[in-house]
Amino acid sequence: MLLFEAAPRLGGVLETVRQDGFLIERGADNFITNVPWGIDLCRRLGLGDQLLQNNHQHRHAFVVRRGRLHRIPEGFMIMAPSRIWPIVTTPIFSPWGKLRMVWEYFVPPCKEEGDESLASFVRRRFGRETYERLVQPLIGGIYTGDPAKLSVRATMPRFQDMERNHGSLIRAIWKQAAKQRSQLQSGSGARYSMFVTLRDGISSLIDALAGRLPRGSVHLGTPVTRLARDPSGGWTVSVGGAEAQSLPCDAVLLAPKATAAASLVADLHPPFARTLSAIPHASCCIVSLGYRRDHVSHALDGFGFVVPHTEHRRILSGSFSSVKYAGRAPEGQTLVRAFIGGEMQPELTALPEDELIALARDELGQLLGISGEPTLVLVSRYERAMPQYYVGHGERVEQIEAGLKELPGLFFTGNAFGGVGIPMCIHKSELVAEQAISQLRGDGGGS
Ligand SMILES: Cc1cc2nc3c(=O)[nH]c(=O)nc-3n(C[C@H](O)[C@H](O)[C@H](O)COP(=O)(O)OP(=O)(O)OC[C@H]3O[C@@H](n4cnc5c(N)ncnc54)[C@H](O)[C@@H]3O)c2cc1C
Repeated sequence: MLLFEAAPRLGGVLETVRQDGFLIERGADNFITNVPWGIDLCRRLGLGDQLLQNNHQHRHAFVVRRGRLHRIPEGFMIMAPSRIWPIVTTPIFSPWGKLRMVWEYFVPPCKEEGDESLASFVRRRFGRETYERLVQPLIGGIYTGDPAKLSVRATMPRFQDMERNHGSLIRAIWKQAAKQRSQLQSGSGARYSMFVTLRDGISSLIDALAGRLPRGSVHLGTPVTRLARDPSGGWTVSVGGAEAQSLPCDAVLLAPKATAAASLVADLHPPFARTLSAIPHASCCIVSLGYRRDHVSHALDGFGFVVPHTEHRRILSGSFSSVKYAGRAPEGQTLVRAFIGGEMQPELTALPEDELIALARDELGQLLGISGEPTLVLVSRYERAMPQYYVGHGERVEQIEAGLKELPGLFFTGNAFGGVGIPMCIHKSELVAEQAISQLRGDGGGS
């Protein structure tokens, strides 16, 4: 088994950095626990005792409204409320907006089959205010995308299922909440917080995985540059970098971004390559800033905030990293990450580093009341890193799967379909790896 990685390190979007006493996640900083695949992999790698729950004291977030941070109503689940009283009392919505939101209970389900954008789905069920003032920034934050283009079926199918099966999302969520309460009372409830990370940072997962690979199998700084099919049914993989060479392989499992995979299959299967390269990808930048705690006047009593597009600010969201998880900042200091760019403000990702830092400092300064100079500054850029599951993504996935069937021995994983979150990527990669192994065993091939 050989693993070729174009970059000088493993991990892609997962990268932990230690600097000046801070532990900074350059990209992804935690993963969801309502699906088992992230937790299971950590346990199998012997990292179970390093799973770090988030700070239960401050398990809520804020949304910006008219330049100020307001608590997201307790129990609001990405696009629907699970409790009424926090909706009644929040200053985020107008009285009409609140009424329209809870009216969702009576909105009949859509009879039409087919895909729909997240924006259209939420506006139809909860009204414009719920969408613009809360759901757009929450979903926009997850996908760094524009919910007016994202497919509800490809990104949040469970909400579409709720509408189909229960007629209303509020009704479905209430039923679910009652079930969870009874599970908790019977002691069979969730053991973990909704999100977890690893005590020494998310890179521990990559290090543990790399430690399980056969000695000499990992080749860093070695991009795969060409794939060719052999007449015997195998593959020839050409790699660049210092170790440039061509190697015969029984099977190839591709795991780069869809756009990079597309260029590798362009000569082999042009329609397949076109489908892959047609998946749009959004870019974003993260500016991590450390401050003396007494230089930040906001109480930082939450995990961070999201910013609606209608606020016309130059920041997508802010994450209070050292509040979310212990051990992220030295004593007396705090670590905040500002997310900039995404599909709705792509021009900002092209800014030079000093302008990005100035922008992040200005936005965070206004929203959190920060005075004084930062004690740490780190800029991370993610160019075209986040695939956008636009309306119609489902058909694209079917075409990708059909294309792969025509290239036996070639497998493809990554975040282009099946979910962008870490646990979903793990799950899909495990399934694809099993498929590859069983195909090789069936063919009587080696590895
Ligand atoms: C900024 C950001 C924050 C995120 N935060 C979270 C979070 O908190 N929680 C969560 O669950 N998810 C998060 N996500 C999503 C999740 O982290 C990603 O979807 C997932 O990690 C992507 O993994 P991947 O292996 O598909 O792609 P990548 O991480 O992009 O890895 C692709 C790898 O392929 C390599 N490569 C590319 N071309 C070649 C080639 N020709 N030859 C060899 N190697 C090549 C690249 O160098 C790279 O290492 C975040 C995503 C981003 C961009």
